[in-house]
Amino acid sequence: MQKPVGAIVLFGPPGAGKGTQARVVVQRFGIPQVSTGDMIRAQVKAGTAATAAAAIMQRGELVPDEWVNQLVEERLKQPDCRRGFVLDGYPRTARQAQALQGMLEGNGLPIRTFDIRIGHHELIPRLTGRQCCPRCGAIYNVHGNPPKRPNLCDRDQTPLETRADDREEVIRERLLAYERQTRPVIEFFRQQGQPVYELDGTLPASEISGQLCRILSAA
Ligand code: ADP
Repeated sequence: MQKPVGAIVLFGPPGAGKGTQARVVVQRFGIPQVSTGDMIRAQVKAGTAATAAAAIMQRGELVPDEWVNQLVEERLKQPDCRRGFVLDGYPRTARQAQALQGMLEGNGLPIRTFDIRIGHHELIPRLTGRQCCPRCGAIYNVHGNPPKRPNLCDRDQTPLETRADDREEVIRERLLAYERQTRPVIEFFRQQGQPVYELDGTLPASEISGQLCRILSAA
């Protein structure tokens, strides 16, 4: 088997670029992206999630820990996760962090934790202008990184979608949830003796991925 890459954990507020960076790691290291937000949205779309989940998401609050923990636990058992995976949006609470530790015990994967740091005032325009391709996952921004043809994905011409929770009042709730529930989890990792690599989320995405990949390659 090829060398393990590790359990890569990306922290950062909504809009910091976790999804964008996760996709670069996937390309570069050949390990899967495990995005709880994408998994939950897929279940809501397919009608397999509890109806309450969609309402919780649309308010910008976090869905119950037990459910997310179960989704992630199932996903990490898949064979494509053996060499590692990029967690994007998980863990987000202390109970999720504890559950993750349990899942990782004994599988021998090193944990690599990154914190993408950026001020809230930069995030609102990024999120309100965000458009995503439902087919390939490409992310655009109507202000900073627009598609070549309005509302169409550059790669596959699929009509772009705006997430229901990318409205300003919901974004404020998501930022609050991040400060209250998720930021303390980074401290929890530090207290466990895990190094947390800080990345400057205001830099161009390509510079951030350069730093991230260098750290992963050197580790
Ligand atoms: P963002 O990080 O930009 O807010 P995500 O796509 O990661 O976007 O998450 C969108 C929403 O999905 C969150 O606001 C929350 O309701 C739900 N969610 C995603 N991951 C988790 C998680 N680990 N725990 C609880 N809720 C989650």
